[in-house]
Amino acid sequence: MDIHEYQAKELLKRFGVQVPRGGIAYSPEQAVYRASELSGDKWVVKAQIHSGARGKAGGVRICANEKEIAEAAQWMLGRVLVTHQTGPQGKLVSRLYVEEATKIAQEIYLAFVMDRKEERVVVVASGQGGMEIEEISANEPESIIRSVVDPAVGMQAFQAREIAFSLGLDAALIPQAVKTITGCYRMMEDTDANMVEINPLVVTQSGEIMALDAKVSFDDNALFRRPEIMEMRDKSQEDTRETFASDRGLNYIGLDGQIGCIVNGAGLAMATLDMIKMAGGEPANFLDVGGGASPERVLMSFQAVLNDPDVEAILVNIFAGINRCDWIAEGVIRAVRELDLKLPIVVRLSGTNVEEGRKLIAESGLPILTAETLAEAAEKAVVAWKAATLKEAV
Ligand code: GDP
Ligand code: MN
Repeated sequence: MDIHEYQAKELLKRFGVQVPRGGIAYSPEQAVYRASELSGDKWVVKAQIHSGARGKAGGVRICANEKEIAEAAQWMLGRVLVTHQTGPQGKLVSRLYVEEATKIAQEIYLAFVMDRKEERVVVVASGQGGMEIEEISANEPESIIRSVVDPAVGMQAFQAREIAFSLGLDAALIPQAVKTITGCYRMMEDTDANMVEINPLVVTQSGEIMALDAKVSFDDNALFRRPEIMEMRDKSQEDTRETFASDRGLNYIGLDGQIGCIVNGAGLAMATLDMIKMAGGEPANFLDVGGGASPERVLMSFQAVLNDPDVEAILVNIFAGINRCDWIAEGVIRAVRELDLKLPIVVRLSGTNVEEGRKLIAESGLPILTAETLAEAAEKAVVAWKAATLKEAV
């Protein structure tokens, strides 16, 4: 789960990381009022969307007076901002963050990410902040510092000092940098975050270290024990297909193809995506219905898959161990009837109660295609999808 910049800064502040003073605004008038509550002679108006690279898209404006603040706010609010991280559909701006502007002396890149190969948190830092990390690694690869954190002891002061010195920071700034680096790590650990990116972390002209931007994501599987983090969720920023599914406990990830998939088990779901591709099709989603799926759950899975307007055929692939093929079949039949499905559906059932399941489908009299193996199911789904789209074209 992602959160907004202002929420991330609020959390970081609690862990001793310095951030500029700021306030949230939902209207131009409120933005002006927020600025009046802050000191300074310049303010930054920032669109709050779940994306970085807002600056280049016009979502970050430095303003020198009330008029400029109101204009920036007017321009941003209600706008669908397209950055090179949002995809072409963009993200709607419905809140702004207004901050005291900071006078920057140096920009630093600082991130904490899960490295799957190391199976540890790795700190990635560079003295060349301000650019995206992809640009830094393309333009200034030798400036990038990597430091692996030992989970048993966490981020130690000596390790943070080493990172700070490698960034070329002045000796006078080292204590503040250590506080910032250890603070970020503690925040990550204490909130089950799996990514913290501060870009830029700046040295101000008055010699302070401050996080000017903050991007944090959390481990979805740990949210149950972080109610305070869960409350920061902003569904309006998420893929609506994924929100629908996750609200119902379905493990769903939206993809770009046309063949919707309903599968049990993450591994089998991945294999199903591969088989569809090998058969010449493109999967529309990953969906793991899980074990012991009731007919209602199967019906819900169909709804989740059909929320994607690109879906033109559906493949159900169940290898039932804990699941029961007859329940799955019942769910499929209910989905076809209750949702009045017209698009081609291929069902492959195997395992527990498979005979009962197949019988239910055969006796339903519905035009549901069946297959014995995964390869056959993928083939049939792709053929049926192509036939259906051809028919539509004619
Ligand atoms: P992003 O584009 O979504 O990553 O948004 P950022 O919060 O990183 O802002 C983009 C850029 O605007 C930063 O890299 C800074 O260079 C600049 N910026 C943001 N806040 C300030 C500020 O208070 N003072 C100055 N001088 N520049 C700022
Ligand atoms: Mn940034």
